[in-house]
Amino acid sequence: GSKGLAKDPGSEPTPGMDPFTDTLQRLREAFGSGRTRPAEFRAAQLRGLGRFLRENKQLLQGALAQDLHKSAFEGDVSEIIICQNEVDLALKNLHAWMKDESVAKNLFTQLDSAFIRKEPFGLVLIVAPWNYPVNLTLVPLVGALAAGNCVVLKPSEISKGTEKVLAEVLPRYLDQSCFAVVLGGPEETGQLLKHKFDYILFTGSPRVGKIIMAAATKHLTPVTLELGGKNPCYVDDDCDPQTVANRVAWFRYFNTGQTCVAPDYVLCSPEMQARLLPALQSAITRFYGEDPQSSPDLGRIINHKHFQRLRDLLSCGRVAIGGQSDESECYIAPTVLVDVQETEPVMQEEIFGPILPIMNVRGLDEAIDFINRREKPLALYAFSNSNQVVNRMLDRTSSGSFGGNEGFMYMTLSSMPLGGVGNSGMGRYHGKFSFDTFSHHRACLLSCSGLEKLNAIRYPPYSEWKQQL
Ligand code: NAD
Repeated sequence: GSKGLAKDPGSEPTPGMDPFTDTLQRLREAFGSGRTRPAEFRAAQLRGLGRFLRENKQLLQGALAQDLHKSAFEGDVSEIIICQNEVDLALKNLHAWMKDESVAKNLFTQLDSAFIRKEPFGLVLIVAPWNYPVNLTLVPLVGALAAGNCVVLKPSEISKGTEKVLAEVLPRYLDQSCFAVVLGGPEETGQLLKHKFDYILFTGSPRVGKIIMAAATKHLTPVTLELGGKNPCYVDDDCDPQTVANRVAWFRYFNTGQTCVAPDYVLCSPEMQARLLPALQSAITRFYGEDPQSSPDLGRIINHKHFQRLRDLLSCGRVAIGGQSDESECYIAPTVLVDVQETEPVMQEEIFGPILPIMNVRGLDEAIDFINRREKPLALYAFSNSNQVVNRMLDRTSSGSFGGNEGFMYMTLSSMPLGGVGNSGMGRYHGKFSFDTFSHHRACLLSCSGLEKLNAIRYPPYSEWKQQL
């Protein structure tokens, strides 16, 4: 069967037996042996991951095309190159990141050595979604390996092509005693979660995030939850509609809208909407041609279930641009909806597809109120020629990340953390933030065994002169 452990296909678990026990036991023993701790071991794993990415680039591109009709360009810039950069950064900085961090001391610890040790948690579980199935599986893996952990990787069962490459090819590049890929959907993951892990990083929906956190609670396992939500995009009256339309359209329709940090809906005045619509139409035509369905640069919806969900959303408000769909290919045209009510489904749930509703507001303050009445989003965007407007939006709202006159370009910077706030998640990773996420920060104070006379001052009896110190 395709479910359960990716490796050892010959040793199918007997019914009723937990298929994960043996693997997890093996990883625990490997961690206990201490072999994942030295920098050389971690670097060897990272180099293996780098080789996997280089040697299997075409295989990965093919898998992404199979899963999402993803163009090679989008696959490279948003998945493969980002993973490679993370590997390179971790290799370059591994020693610096691992180094004990010495900290300030007080009068009583002057002669001691005070430092923070970054130690691995142990057995880490990474659970990933299907929309960037390479990036969102392997970028967390870089951090977990750099930090010296053993790792169980659970790719999404929905992006089948990528899942297969990760399960069958990736393990050959890593130390098999410290790393395993696990296959399966909700049921298998539920069974996996009954086991104790030392850290869990989950990327996916807020609904499943709650299931993961509830399971982690049973073992007091710490979690990073990378979730989603509806990302607002405010367009001020003072801006160039064509520039805004180009940027918003690219970031909305990139990966066919199946991006956690994509602008989910536009907030603007009716006047700006009138100027924005022809500009959006022009951008869409320039990007994807007169017939977007035949564009090699536009992907498809991941499966029929999501296609049907999105097609239903097309009946909200009024279609101003696009609106076509073709179930045989899971195709949805780049679409803009207007006259949308706040109470309609398209404004209630994360869209996660190539549909952009425009909601009308009268100016910046109404937009801020609209945003603050809702759950804290993963990302928030504001477009204006006025820095004051952009800064006011930044100052008065909260979100995982923020783009001023820009989409999710910050995702290309390993110097920035990726993470939500409130309903969009907790914790952060990327670059050094990943290393820190997967490391326990252990407070260490090493004193000398001599000089006991100096310590006499702190022991009882607490005579009056001591209390005056
Ligand atoms: P999902 O929550 O349905 O699934 C994510 C993972 O959880 C998959 O591996 C899946 O097998 C597993 N899973 C599903 N149901 C489960 C259950 N009942 N018990 C245990 N495990 C279960 O999410 P998805 O549809 O794959 O991805 C879309 C969501 O992910 C969107 O909400 C999107 O915003 C979010 N997302 C967030 C980020 C981020 O970085 N914050 C990135 C990409 C996607």
